[in-house]
Amino acid sequence: MFVNSDNENNSWVERDLRHLWHPCTQMQDHEWLPLVPIKRGRGVWLEDYSGQRYLDAISSWWVNLFGHCHPHINAALKQQLEQLEHVLLAGFTHAPATRLAEQLVAITPAGLDRVFLADNGSAAVEVSLKMSFQYWRNQGRSRTKFVTLANSYHGETLGALAVGDVGLYRDMYSPLLLQPLVAPSPDCFAREAGESWESFSRRQFAAMEQLLNEHAADICAVIVEPLVQCAGGMRMYHPVYLQLLRALCDRLDIHLIADEIAVGFGRTGTLFACEQADISPDFMCLSKGLTGGYLPLSAVLVPDKIYQAFYADYASMKGFLHSHSYTGNPLACTAALATMELFAGSDVLARNRQIAELISTRIQDLEAHPNVGEIRQTGMITAIEMVQEKTGKQPFPWQERRGLRVYQYALRHEVLLRPLGNVVYFMPPYVITDEQIDLMTRVAREGILRAVA
Ligand SMILES: *Cc1c(COP(=O)(O)O)cnc(C)c1O
Repeated sequence: MFVNSDNENNSWVERDLRHLWHPCTQMQDHEWLPLVPIKRGRGVWLEDYSGQRYLDAISSWWVNLFGHCHPHINAALKQQLEQLEHVLLAGFTHAPATRLAEQLVAITPAGLDRVFLADNGSAAVEVSLKMSFQYWRNQGRSRTKFVTLANSYHGETLGALAVGDVGLYRDMYSPLLLQPLVAPSPDCFAREAGESWESFSRRQFAAMEQLLNEHAADICAVIVEPLVQCAGGMRMYHPVYLQLLRALCDRLDIHLIADEIAVGFGRTGTLFACEQADISPDFMCLSKGLTGGYLPLSAVLVPDKIYQAFYADYASMKGFLHSHSYTGNPLACTAALATMELFAGSDVLARNRQIAELISTRIQDLEAHPNVGEIRQTGMITAIEMVQEKTGKQPFPWQERRGLRVYQYALRHEVLLRPLGNVVYFMPPYVITDEQIDLMTRVAREGILRAVA
């Protein structure tokens, strides 16, 4: 059968725009910015209905780890599908959820022994906030405050949005939100010329210390994205900050929530970012890469001490009565288990070090460009920050949408990049080859040089 594929592309776009409302999108943009209808995916590649390919350099919003349509995950899912698609997790259980809980306890930092499942990142954050609050209540202590870092992102449901600090997402809804205490970010882009990451992150900790000391008795928890504030523009900081924060939270008896939703599962070079600071949080939130990018699932891990504070006679009303319909979905848990098997099957982190090194080498010379404020890298996350003026790190006005120009250029040249404002970044699937890295970095360079001109 003869199919005019360009027409097929267009027809899907037309039908889409009649009824769908897309996430994180001013829909009017699509009067001039074409939607890209994807027909299939394989490895790092996405393909539209005309056969045009796109290298997924951002792992489809940071969720994909081992490429699209991975044979091992596909096979595991097909098998599970014939067995059990879903059952409620209250009063019932199943092998995939049980095995996943065992696996997560085994691979996460010491002391995290209990796993509460939910179905997306924001829900995991909500769970950790509610659990922390209720933990103190169950102890007979009334605490209501949460502490967050400037420029942080923890999701977009109202509770998760409240503890975030990216104005683009938060400002509109701020009248509806609980008000956290906000400490300055340890983000090292703001450091003095010549200052080390460690020195700057240490210096930034002073304000956190003061804030916690002042409000300790009211604070349930401090929530942070360990090492990289991803949605806040891939801003990075030194692990020493996490060490200092862990020690202080211990001293003042305040929970530490590590939101590893974006940075978990090898993104920062270690399996979990907290490992680089050699700390265990009181709550660890996982999602995104958890299922290898296949299905929505999230997990909150806590130490036994927190679990025990909810474990009591029913009538005490100390139970954690939170639920989502799809909690612990067997298919999602199966995708997660298959993803864990891929980690166990080869030295993924070692290969990732080579990938990171090659990416860094390929773009190194851009650092000298007058419109590049900084190139920064933590493990598999590499960011290039475009600036209007280099020495003062003066940003381009956001209205100019320079990043969007890079997006458009890259799409025309077989690469999917999705800059965050003026920050172009790479967060590719771990199966990317050296040749694909060459393509990705070459197209990004060309796109950046055009966008800043
Ligand atoms: C993406 C993200 C979330 C929210 O996850 P969703 O599944 O999109 O709700 C929370 N925290 C961090 C650090 C994230 O990157």
